[in-house]
Amino acid sequence: MYLTKTDMIEYLRCPYRCIKAKSEGIQASDYIESTVISILFERGQQFEDDIVKDMTPVELENIRKSTRNKNLRTDEYGIMHNDCLHISGKIDAFKLVQGIYYPVEIKNHKSLLDTDELEIVFYWLLLNSNKIRLNHYYTLALEALKNGTKGADVGCGYAILNTGEIKLVQVNCDKIEQVRRLLSKIETALKQYQNGDTLDEQPVRTSHCHSCTLADDCKRYLEEKGALSLIPDIGFSRNKQLNDAGINSIKQLISLKTEHIYDKLVKNCTRVNFNLDTIKNWQLTAKAIINESAYPRVPPEEIPLNYAIVDTEYDPGGLVFLTGILLHNGNNQVKQWWAQNTSQHQRNIKEMQSYMQFLKYPIVTYSGLSADKPALGNKIWDKIFGNNLHVDLYQYIKHCWALPLYSLSLKDVAAYTGFTYEGQCSGGADALALYYEWRETKDENIKKTIMEYNAQDLLATQSVIEWLRTLNGGHK
Ligand code: SF4
Repeated sequence: MYLTKTDMIEYLRCPYRCIKAKSEGIQASDYIESTVISILFERGQQFEDDIVKDMTPVELENIRKSTRNKNLRTDEYGIMHNDCLHISGKIDAFKLVQGIYYPVEIKNHKSLLDTDELEIVFYWLLLNSNKIRLNHYYTLALEALKNGTKGADVGCGYAILNTGEIKLVQVNCDKIEQVRRLLSKIETALKQYQNGDTLDEQPVRTSHCHSCTLADDCKRYLEEKGALSLIPDIGFSRNKQLNDAGINSIKQLISLKTEHIYDKLVKNCTRVNFNLDTIKNWQLTAKAIINESAYPRVPPEEIPLNYAIVDTEYDPGGLVFLTGILLHNGNNQVKQWWAQNTSQHQRNIKEMQSYMQFLKYPIVTYSGLSADKPALGNKIWDKIFGNNLHVDLYQYIKHCWALPLYSLSLKDVAAYTGFTYEGQCSGGADALALYYEWRETKDENIKKTIMEYNAQDLLATQSVIEWLRTLNGGHK
């Protein structure tokens, strides 16, 4: 069986899903909620097609000559196979530098991700390597590790970002070794699966679970096991660190002394990225989950009587097409600004600025620090909301409360407070899909559905604020 770049990236996202899909002969993306995947795929494909259409195709023979790799062949679908390493893939484009072809990946995002670098290393190996060369890079990587140095650069590749920037990616022995290890883990797991052995790869809750169609099955499995990743702060690497230290369940986590867990972890970890407080927080969340109760991590703070909740809907890397503000000063007042283009957005900013001008209420968002504020831009944010205090409710809950929840998404936290979403839009990705549809059709009903969804998010955030007020003993 040939392994692909997608197998490698999917393994990083969820090893369990990757092996399950590969063994069943389907794409791991088939397990991802269809709206999200089709939007991302269509947009990425369009962007790639626009760039590739102006490039001259490269003959396989020229690539084989330039990389001195006889193991390369191309099948009838244009997919390249390295028959020695048993890896395959379709490289977006090639860059010829001093007689050598280098792989080019086209990425529909604005900055280089760690996974982009691994993809380029994978493609560089596909073009350039055989087992002898790979063993040589492995030896170099080991030497570098022993000497405490960075592995030697042995090649390179390029990434074209959606800003138009072309990024050079150095291929060094460390990264090659990382790719080699990942591929070898996938190979081992596939063999285990075929032999009916127990797999090392088991479900671990991460941010990828919310758009995965296997989520309900995995949740049941994790609940039965009382698994550590039920705690939102424990993802793959922390789960592994704890497992390596002999801690495998939330019950075990609360039965041990914090200092004892810390000592066990420190003994087993090469990288210490936790402290006693981190472990105390895990233990309190474990207690909240087991007892199905909420516990404060710090003394509860006062909840202001009046506030303004802000929520935006935006096209990543594009336009903020809707901003909603719920003003609460005794009553609720919801105002929304729709933008169909940049000039409308500019006019909206001026209107919002004058609307907020004399209102000194705290501004509340849910994940606004990572979503709404960067989407609007810091300068525009300051222009509209001036010096008003900004509270990111997600951050507040994460740091100040231990809730009996596996995810702190607005939808989950609001549901816990008793809020029920209404309307036909199922979430942010769905709203974005509807927006693309609206752009094509200008259908007023679609626009109405998106605006209703935005208003529901504002009310869901308010539900969380008011619930916190009751927990805080009615503080004002
Ligand atoms: S729900 Fe999460 S753990 Fe389960 S397969 Fe999907 S991504 Fe993996």
